[in-house]
Amino acid sequence: KEHDNGTESATTTTTAHTETSTKSDVGVKNDATVKEETKQKQVGRHGKLGEKTILHSIGLMEYILESSVYPREHEQLRELRLETGKHPRNLMLSPADEGRFLQVLLKLMNAKNTMEIGVYTGYSLLATALAIPDDGKIIAMDINRDCLNVGWPSIEKAGVADKIDFREGPAMDTLDVLLGEGEKYHNHFDFIFVDADKNNYINYHPKLLQLVRVGGVIAYDNTLWNGTVALTEEEMVELQLPKYVRHYQPYILELNKFLAADSRIDISLVSIGDGVTLCRRLL
Ligand code: SAM
Ligand code: CA
Repeated sequence: KEHDNGTESATTTTTAHTETSTKSDVGVKNDATVKEETKQKQVGRHGKLGEKTILHSIGLMEYILESSVYPREHEQLRELRLETGKHPRNLMLSPADEGRFLQVLLKLMNAKNTMEIGVYTGYSLLATALAIPDDGKIIAMDINRDCLNVGWPSIEKAGVADKIDFREGPAMDTLDVLLGEGEKYHNHFDFIFVDADKNNYINYHPKLLQLVRVGGVIAYDNTLWNGTVALTEEEMVELQLPKYVRHYQPYILELNKFLAADSRIDISLVSIGDGVTLCRRLL
């Protein structure tokens, strides 16, 4: 049985949601039914199911995964995903459909120099390493390397470990190191994936704008924050969402508002996974 993707959480664990689940609820529904199901799933996503989709339908999510994502998933990427499923913090794993999306995006952009903030066991990192050319490089940051040990054997087996320059420590410090190395990393990156401490995204932004090239993309992950961006504090309490979800929601709301008003970038909040906002640097 396979563990599937989950939500962001530093502390919670989840029961595995299987790829072969028979549940299917695709079809046209009235608003009240959809609303009720969404309510249930918002509880569920932090409970037993641990789904990571803003789609209203588990069946539709399964259809996407089974018809076009899993058949195209690289062998070691799949291996890494399944290994991560055994890890106690597996709720942080990026969903496979988002991994696929990032890979196609990177290829469309001909991205070569990339950065990742928030690596965990390395699913999005390996997806990126597989999508960039042989001479491509990724500067990957995380406060610790322990979780990456789970995925490292798969990354080595895939033959892409030498594309990765892992920097251990708080990302803010590492960004300052990069910015401090003369002009070397200014306007350097084609693509930056941000998937770490949500309260700091807004503080990373001015630094990342100096590091990404004009026309390059900064992608902020989890910008729908488990669907809570559309909920009030009272609704989150009523839905019994965990404290950490309620805690970070205002930071995401603030970020989304800020990005929407930032004239230096072109943006699109893509509703895949838990929401990923693509910011293309304009000037
Ligand atoms: N991108 C990963 C994937 O595809 O599975 C998931 C990343 S996980 C959601 C978030 C990661 O951010 C954790 O591994 C955590 O250690 C890291 N992190 C949290 N705060 C950080 C910080 N201040 N600097 C760097 N990494 C941080
Ligand atoms: Ca994420």
